[in-house]
Amino acid sequence: MTTSVATLQSSSAFVQEYIDIVTGRDPHQPEFLQAVQEVVVSLEPVLERHSQYRDQRVLERMLEPERVIQFRVPWQADDGTVHVNRGFRVGFNSAIGPYKGGLRFHPSVNLSILKFLAFEQVFKNSLTGQPIGGGKGGSDFDPRCRSDREVMRFCQSFMTELYRHVGHNTDVPAGDIGVGGREIGFLFGQYKRITNTFTGVLTGRGPGWGGSLLRPEATGYGAVYFAAEMANTEGKTLEGMQCLVSGSGNVAQYACRKLIELGAIPVTLSDSSGWIHDPAGIDEEKLQFVMHLKNECRGRISEYCEKYSTATYTPTESGASSNALWAVQADAAFPSATQNEINAEDAGNLVAGGVRLVSEGANMPTTPEAQDILVDAGVLLGPGKAANAGGVAVSALEMAQASQRLRWTTEEVDRHLRRIMHDIHAVCLEAAHAYGFERDYRHGANIAGFRKVADAMLDQGLV
Ligand code: NDP
Repeated sequence: MTTSVATLQSSSAFVQEYIDIVTGRDPHQPEFLQAVQEVVVSLEPVLERHSQYRDQRVLERMLEPERVIQFRVPWQADDGTVHVNRGFRVGFNSAIGPYKGGLRFHPSVNLSILKFLAFEQVFKNSLTGQPIGGGKGGSDFDPRCRSDREVMRFCQSFMTELYRHVGHNTDVPAGDIGVGGREIGFLFGQYKRITNTFTGVLTGRGPGWGGSLLRPEATGYGAVYFAAEMANTEGKTLEGMQCLVSGSGNVAQYACRKLIELGAIPVTLSDSSGWIHDPAGIDEEKLQFVMHLKNECRGRISEYCEKYSTATYTPTESGASSNALWAVQADAAFPSATQNEINAEDAGNLVAGGVRLVSEGANMPTTPEAQDILVDAGVLLGPGKAANAGGVAVSALEMAQASQRLRWTTEEVDRHLRRIMHDIHAVCLEAAHAYGFERDYRHGANIAGFRKVADAMLDQGLV
């Protein structure tokens, strides 16, 4: 059964009821509303079949975060000027484990974006099969134009408030956009200093001080493993496929690496200033250059073309109706930058350009209209909740290793990651099948993620 979000929204009193609840409470949170709408359209047959969820108003309860913390983050720049940013942490649902989800440092961060991310995280974490609830946090601070010392002072100030609300059994943050190994290090150092404890309060730690091997790689690798599972349902492999990758940060880099390892050919990368197209393919040597450029020099993706003459660079046009990266001819796409980066026009271009498979490395990168265009055209669409769950899954493995004071080998972690991605893929297909959404991963992910959390909430009473 192919389901159009737009049709369901207009025709279903069920969906409208929940949209009204959210818009009534938070009319100015469009990203959160979008995330809720995407989930609710999947759940009508579930609530019809299981009256206990309706009677106990489980879905209404799941739409409201358990807690939202907002705080001031004052800090001093190298030139002595004083700055003030906003810090947030949203604890959305702890029915199946402590809150778990990343911190995002980006000027666009606001409560709507963090609530959408935390809400999605609840379903994603449930899908991993690991005992982790859903949360998210961050700040409107922009680390990109700041020195290491400024980033350190900011992180210390941020953690000086956040430490009261997190803990290895309460809420375990990790990285996201703008928060990588450097930021996790500064945040962890301050937490350790203030609390006088060395615990697994953050994941994504350095391998020498409690971090899991393969955690930096896990989200990108997982998105590619998920894509391979989807391709396998049609008797295909990723080998030889031309792949569009957006972003050039953590997720994009390791998606590229795994694609290269599996014989696929990534041909694009981007950042917020523009994108590069390398028809000759981005190989391991070129990827090493990108990693050095982005992670050490904190440079721009345009510099790729100064080094490799096979590539062209196109700056992002502000106000453009579409992103020309998605119009490049290819077989598969891995959006790995940010939310809503593929709109309806982009989706039409992807279909016209031959793309048959989309695995979302980023969170909610495809608008609802774009999703419908892709699915209606028969494109296999792996939603972020499922396809990018490898990162948080390995974070949960990091928590397990930390509590046992053990360190698994890369091979062991990779084996777990592959199994988890395989299981998530299977669970999505099964749930989609069981509720009449045959082969639609979006609905399968929402339903399977929901049921585990909902059942735990019923078991635990009205809390
Ligand atoms: P990074 O900060 O490492 O990289 C983000 C990349 O996306 C950069 O290239 C950045 O460009 C680009 N980007 C960010 N915002 C925008 C924007 N508004 N417009 C265009 N480009 C943008 O982040 P990650 O790679 O960690 O995260 C990427 C996505 O993956 C996010 O959606 C995140 O939520 C999701 N994700 C990440 C996980 C993880 O483990 N890290 C886990 C699961 C999901 P620039 O440098 O110019 O800002």
